[in-house]
Amino acid sequence: MPAERLVLRPPDAGHKILIAEGGLRVPDDPIIPLIEGDGIGPEVVRAAQGAIDAAVENTFGGRRRIVWYPIPAGEKAMFRYGDMLPEATLAAIREYVVALKGPLTTPVSGGFRSLNVALRKALDLYANVRPIYWIPGVPSPVSHPERLDIVIFREATEDVYAGIEWEKGSPEARRMIEVLEKEFHARVRADSGIGVKPVSETGSKRLVRKAIRYAIENGRKSVTLVHKGNIMKYTEGAFRTWGYEVARDEFRDSTIAWDAVVKDHAGQAPDGKVVIKDVIADNMFQQLLLRPDEYDVLATTNLNGDYLSDAAAAQIGGLGVAPGGNIGDAHAVFEPIHGSAPKYAGMDRVNPTGEILAGVMMLEYLGWRDAGARLRDAVKSVVASKRLTYDLARQLPGAKEVRTSAFARAVIEAVNGARR
Ligand code: NAP
Repeated sequence: MPAERLVLRPPDAGHKILIAEGGLRVPDDPIIPLIEGDGIGPEVVRAAQGAIDAAVENTFGGRRRIVWYPIPAGEKAMFRYGDMLPEATLAAIREYVVALKGPLTTPVSGGFRSLNVALRKALDLYANVRPIYWIPGVPSPVSHPERLDIVIFREATEDVYAGIEWEKGSPEARRMIEVLEKEFHARVRADSGIGVKPVSETGSKRLVRKAIRYAIENGRKSVTLVHKGNIMKYTEGAFRTWGYEVARDEFRDSTIAWDAVVKDHAGQAPDGKVVIKDVIADNMFQQLLLRPDEYDVLATTNLNGDYLSDAAAAQIGGLGVAPGGNIGDAHAVFEPIHGSAPKYAGMDRVNPTGEILAGVMMLEYLGWRDAGARLRDAVKSVVASKRLTYDLARQLPGAKEVRTSAFARAVIEAVNGARR
């Protein structure tokens, strides 16, 4: 059967978010593209949509509302339109600036390496931002999960994820090995696969700039540059150097390097200054476990950030509860960090918290902070009441297991209750 031609029709109501000099200009009724996703996507997205709408309605007394604009991607888009990531979908996000999405299934063979990587690249969403904080009552494998409250800024367009790699024995790999040996006198085994790790000054500086700006605007105490520069000097080491340069050259009045804190301030950071420090990536894993309260915002390269954010998410209760944002200079797509968990699709069982908290990030990004805070508080109060989906209920004696939809209804009730 030939694929249907995709024609997207934006909603009749609502207005576009505009990109202005000083940031976004958000109307009271922004049109927000919505990708419901694959597998468990539709059920967690439905849960989040209802909870977000309730938070906005209650916070602004009906003066503001979101006009959702469903757009296709993933398996359903493939089935109907013959394309997992249709150009019209990308164009809609470009035009309407901020989007919410559910998880997408990446087919194991052929086509995309990852739909998410493709989406980030197509829209130049270079910062993958993951706030990681504990919600009281969520079972955790560590004894003091409340001590971890960090935001990871992971560079999302470069590093070994740039997709520049060749299979063992391919003409490209053979040619690269030949060039490396002949021209650079670097010996590489003939049966090697080859991958390239580009880390640019431009890419590193814009990521660190975003992390520092976030730290300043949100009253955070420090930005830690996480790198493996002791080994990979011209990629990871350069990331560290460029990070310190951004702080020194662009944020001189509002930041201070840790060396200067030690030398000039007896180890006590002066009030109002964000401390810039750096930690080697492998050490960072143990630091987050042993001294989590000494870290605040982290800025790091792509692969380090991928590992670190999942490990840190495990400390606060795992995949089901952690949100993320893919953010560029203006465009942003918010999503949970978990995947499409196909075996649970349509069962109304999984935890919608990651998707709801992605909604909290989105509300904050729109500048609707009060609505974001109300929604986060509502999730906290439902968790505190021990009404939990299976993933958390199975770890907590005395918890009452509820379905995805029931959890979402409880969050909406809590949002509404907060008003009275
Ligand atoms: P996954 O979908 O995240 O699921 C792995 C396991 O994590 C599930 O079996 C379940 O564990 C638990 N889990 C995930 N989400 C949960 C939720 N909301 N509530 C409760 N438990 C949850 O990872 P995967 O199986 O590796 O990947 C499946 C597909 O998703 C793949 O096609 C992958 O490419 C894609 N993916 C997409 C994204 C994205 O769109 N951002 C991200 C990651 C993966 P238990 O079975 O132990 O209960």
